[in-house]
Amino acid sequence: MVSDQVNTYLSALIRQRNPLLTEMEQYAEENEVPIMDVVSVEAMLQILTLANTKNVLEIGTAIGYSAMRITEKLPNCKVVSIERNFERHEKAKEYIRRGQLESRITLIFGDALDDASDISEYGPFDALFIDAAKGQYKRFFELYSPLVKKGGLVISDNVLYKGIVANEGKVAKGIRTMVVNLRSYNEMLMSNEEFETTFYPIGDGMAISKKK
Ligand code: SAH
Ligand code: MG
Repeated sequence: MVSDQVNTYLSALIRQRNPLLTEMEQYAEENEVPIMDVVSVEAMLQILTLANTKNVLEIGTAIGYSAMRITEKLPNCKVVSIERNFERHEKAKEYIRRGQLESRITLIFGDALDDASDISEYGPFDALFIDAAKGQYKRFFELYSPLVKKGGLVISDNVLYKGIVANEGKVAKGIRTMVVNLRSYNEMLMSNEEFETTFYPIGDGMAISKKK
């Protein structure tokens, strides 16, 4: 993984976000909402831009930060995003209204493990962004990767979970299942014949998979 020193250095090089996004970053920090770190966001935005992405399905809205970053960076892109935590979903609605992005970001309140058929009507998608419960990535992938177009992308955040996924030593009991699940998810991605996957050890680890 990138050291804290390098991460701090890179974060400081990145331009300040607009006042609303900065407010969201502060809210996330104060309320321990695990929004994507700025270095990973920049990398993801670059990839989505290069891929000329027009619509994204996001699993895990939180307060709408990544969805707003995507729509801000890609003026022709829409986002459909699902969140199961009511308070965060409501907060996301508020921020998206303030950012006047209601026409481009569709928020769905619900558990992504339940509502797959409802979401299919919004697809197919150029990109799927998986950024929710880390123990369930395989299930999210099974449910939603069929909605990704040929040539489209699946972006999975947090796949190296603080580097612990790569750690051969003993893993603390409370996170063992999650780590085991992430390892098996990563292996599944790499052996999946339908996708071409590369791993980026930035932030909390990001995998980019391109559908053949
Ligand atoms: N993408 C956001 C951060 C998401 S944090 C950003 O970078 O701005 C992960 C979120 O996923 C949490 O808010 C959590 O409540 C949500 N989540 C976890 N499992 C979920 C599920 N099964 N369905 C919907 N949301 C889920
Ligand atoms: Mg994340």
